Amino acid sequence: MPELKFPVASKFPNTETSIFAVMSKLSHEEKAINLSQGYPDFATSSELIGLVNQAMEQGFNQYAPMPGIYSLREMISEKLHFMYGTEYQPETEITVTAGATQAIYTIITAFVGQEDEVIIFSPAYDCYAPSIRINGGKTIEIELKSPDYGVDWKEVKAAISRKTKMIIINTPHNPTGTVLSSDDMLMLENLVKDSNIIILSDEVYEHLIYDGREHQSIARFPDLSKRSFLVASFGKTFHNTGWKMGYCAGPAELMKEFRKVHQYNVFSVNHPVQKALSIYLKNKNNYLSLPSFFQRKRDLFLDAIKDSKFSFTPSSGTYFQLLNYAEISDEYDLELAKKWTRELKLASIPISVFYENKIDRKALRFCFAKSDETLLKGAEILNSI
Ligand code: PMP
Ligand code: GLN
Repeated sequence: MPELKFPVASKFPNTETSIFAVMSKLSHEEKAINLSQGYPDFATSSELIGLVNQAMEQGFNQYAPMPGIYSLREMISEKLHFMYGTEYQPETEITVTAGATQAIYTIITAFVGQEDEVIIFSPAYDCYAPSIRINGGKTIEIELKSPDYGVDWKEVKAAISRKTKMIIINTPHNPTGTVLSSDDMLMLENLVKDSNIIILSDEVYEHLIYDGREHQSIARFPDLSKRSFLVASFGKTFHNTGWKMGYCAGPAELMKEFRKVHQYNVFSVNHPVQKALSIYLKNKNNYLSLPSFFQRKRDLFLDAIKDSKFSFTPSSGTYFQLLNYAEISDEYDLELAKKWTRELKLASIPISVFYENKIDRKALRFCFAKSDETLLKGAEILNSI
C-alpha cells in the first residue's frame, strides 16, 4: 500500500486491541496451551452441523427476515418461558443477533447518547465500556470487591443520578465466575423502580451454573424485565463461538428502538444457522445438560491444582476460573500472563484489563471449556510454578 498522505485523527486514541485477540495470538505463536480466550477446544454437535448442512442444501441461503426467522424466535420464546416462566412475544420482543456482542453494541447504540451515564460493574466484560464511549456516553464503574466479588447495592444507589440511562449486569459473571442471587435482583428492582433506567442483562452463561444454583435471569423478575434486555449467546451454549449467533429479548417498546439500529448495523444474521437452531432447540437436553458437563470440567481442573501455590474460590458459573497468584509472584498480571505464555507455554487472561483503573490485582483467568487432556496438561504446568 502507498503511504497515507494525511494524519489520521483517531476517534479512540486510548482503545487498545482486545486482550482476547492479544493472548490467543501470542498463545498460537508460542504453541502454548490456550486457557485464555473463552471458547471450547472440543467439537460442537455433529447433529447441529448436519442441520446447518441440511438448511443450506434446502436453499436457506439468502437474507433471513430482519429480526430473525419466526420459527427460531418462537423456539426462543418457548425456551424463555420454560426456563424462567416469562412470555416474550416472538413477533415483537425477540431479535436474533450476530452473537451477544452485536446485541450489546446495538442496545447501547439505540439508547445511550451524549453525556448519558451507564453503570457497569468491574471487572467488566471488555466490550461494554468501549461501546458506551463510542456513543458519547460515560461509564460509571462500580468495583466488585474480591474475594467474593459481590455487588454493594448501597454504592449502586449512590451512583445513580438523573443522567443514568442504563445499568449493565452480567450473571454468571465473566471473569469472576460469581452469580447474582435473587436478593441481588430484588435490590436492583427496588433501586430502579421509580426511574427510566434500562437494564442490559448479559446472560450469555445462563446454562453454565454449578453446585445446584439456579440462574437468576432478569426474565424471572417482572418488574425488572419490563425495562430490560436479556442478552444470550448460542456460541456459549452450543460450543460454537465461531458461528457468532445470539439473541436478545425485551419489551416491544424497547425492541422497536433496538431494531432501528439492528437493521442498519447487520440487517439480519446467518440464515441456515438460524434454521438449524430452530430445530436443535426442540431438544431441551441440548442445553439442560450443560451445568453437569461443565461442573465436571471445573472439578477436574481444580482437583488437579489443589496442591499448587495458587489460591481460588471455585467458580459458581461461566467456564472461567480465577486463580490468585499473590503467593507466587509480585509481577503485574498482564506481564505475568505474557511471560508464562512464552516461558511456560500456558496462556491465561490477566484481569486488570477488565478495570478502568488497571492496577495489578494478582489474579489470572483460566478457561476450563477444554478437553480433559488439555486441562490436565495446563494443571501440570500450574503445579510446577
Ligand atoms: N458477554 C460476555 C460476558 C462474554 O463473555 C461474551 C463472550 N462470549 C460475550 C458477551 C459475547 O458473546 P458472543 O460471542 O456471542 O458475541
Ligand atoms: N467471551 C470470550 C472471553 O471472555 C471472548 C470473546 C472475544 O474474544 N471477544 O474469553
